[in-house]
Amino acid sequence: MPRLSEVIAALENLWPAQRAESWDAVGTVVGDPDQEVTRVLFAVDPVQEIVDEAVKLGADLLVTHHPLYLRGTTTVAATHFKGRVVHTLIKNDIALHVAHTNADTADPGVSDALAGALDLRVTGPLVPDPTDPEGRRGLGRVCALDTPLTVREFAARAAERLPATAQGIRVAGDPEALLRTVAVSGGSGDSLFDHVRAAGVDAFLTADLRHHPVSEFTAAVASRPLALLDAAHWATEWPWCELAASQLDEISDRHGWDLRVHVSKTVTDPWTAHAASAHPSPATALPTSASRPPSSSDPLGAPN
Ligand SMILES: [Zn+2]
Repeated sequence: MPRLSEVIAALENLWPAQRAESWDAVGTVVGDPDQEVTRVLFAVDPVQEIVDEAVKLGADLLVTHHPLYLRGTTTVAATHFKGRVVHTLIKNDIALHVAHTNADTADPGVSDALAGALDLRVTGPLVPDPTDPEGRRGLGRVCALDTPLTVREFAARAAERLPATAQGIRVAGDPEALLRTVAVSGGSGDSLFDHVRAAGVDAFLTADLRHHPVSEFTAAVASRPLALLDAAHWATEWPWCELAASQLDEISDRHGWDLRVHVSKTVTDPWTAHAASAHPSPATALPTSASRPPSSSDPLGAPN
């Protein structure tokens, strides 16, 4: 039976803390290095619901993608929801370890898991890590579709393959445009727009896209169709939990640790319901060209 320090060393080998962004807070948040580990739970968010699940499961270690504390704190009093998480963890001898931006850029990392869930063939990172001589690590992934799909078909695939959320998948662009290459980035990806443009892909799937960045991005690429697909942040990162769990399983087998590794299926996306508009939007009303925004692929519409 391994000690926490041995399991953490294995996790650090997969996602070295020094590869995290400077603003990030990764590594072990709670835990005694000498405690023994038999059961591990992977989840996206270190929220009370997940910690309660870890207690019920009898887990000794919870590994999450999102940090519990991103900035400094002066209290872990249980009067605050984060302090309550710390209390529950310590009272139940459960360690908490975080792999965030160091897991995003890893090979394989968060966006590889997302690409895998969507049945995409990864051809390389969207923003390569210059310190990786093999050019495999980095933010986001550029992928190929071995069988081209329309934006509409690809959105339907994403809605089906990613874990279900209230949001589903939102699309910006011509639903009938054909996709051969797609960039993906788990989590908030609008800071990568310049790289997406430079990659020359047909679409970008990420999360947390907002009105102004999307509006400006679509205007800037008007001469060439480039669709944006927006999924729930949690749903784009959850596939990593399964990937990470299988990596730890393999390490456990190699060391004869006999760890029990679990992935939480609890949906911690904060959005809980979705009301569809009463009237179809211009995009869903296709193929009525009169109600469709002009695009370069539309012979009836003037390029804008
Ligand atoms: Zn995230």
